[in-house]
Amino acid sequence: MPEPMLTLEGVHSFYGKAHILNGLGFSVDRGEVVALLGRNGAGKTTTMKSIMQLVRPRRGQVCFHGSQITGMPPHKVARLGLGYVPEERRIFTDLTILENLEVGRQARRADTPYWTEADMFELFPNLWERRNAQGKAMSGGEQQMLTIARTLMGNPSLLLLDEPSEGIAPIIVEQMAETILKFKAEGLTVIISEQNLHFARIVADRAVIIEGGEKKFDGSFAELENHPEIRDAYLSV
Ligand code: ATP
Repeated sequence: MPEPMLTLEGVHSFYGKAHILNGLGFSVDRGEVVALLGRNGAGKTTTMKSIMQLVRPRRGQVCFHGSQITGMPPHKVARLGLGYVPEERRIFTDLTILENLEVGRQARRADTPYWTEADMFELFPNLWERRNAQGKAMSGGEQQMLTIARTLMGNPSLLLLDEPSEGIAPIIVEQMAETILKFKAEGLTVIISEQNLHFARIVADRAVIIEGGEKKFDGSFAELENHPEIRDAYLSV
């Protein structure tokens, strides 16, 4: 068995005294799309932040390609090839779409998909139409697309998308699902956090369900369908 790309083992994360992740562990193989599922407040965002070291786990470890990244500064984690798209969109509102993409550009990394501005406009045609518009003139869906596009310009090998379907119009949600499937076809490994089971089932190979900062389920969507009691206990459907 090849070594997993990312492994979390016994991760405990806190905000001050609030104990949020409680010994969380799971792994992600190269080329997989894994959905972190769970209700509001279950700990999905904290899991992503703990992977990126934006929240430093107090116990446990996070390994990327077998090397410990626990405690590393987040910008170094990003340089190893982890790209994080937070739920709150982070674009430069005074820059145009094109300028936002240029800001995200990083040198080519061996062994990861290499993306250019032209690829971004092919993936997100709406961005091309508005390429000279300022970030602040964009809709929520467009800002979400631009945040993802800008992160891809850093050529990550593992992409973390926090609630990509949240707060965007249904037609854009469909485009988002198609886009994530294209990432997978390009060989990107993706972790998405989702409350939308339908969306997760379309794009992901596997579900990891979190509740109270603990893993409650790890398996395929087919297995999850055979266990409606798990779905009812931990997901809002
Ligand atoms: P959501 O869908 O709401 O984003 P989530 O599963 O991503 O949910 P987290 O955002 O990881 O959940 O939050 C887990 C818990 O941590 C919640 O109880 C939340 O209130 C708490 N929390 C999140 N951020 C902070 C913070 N900066 N300080 C203190 N508590 C926080």
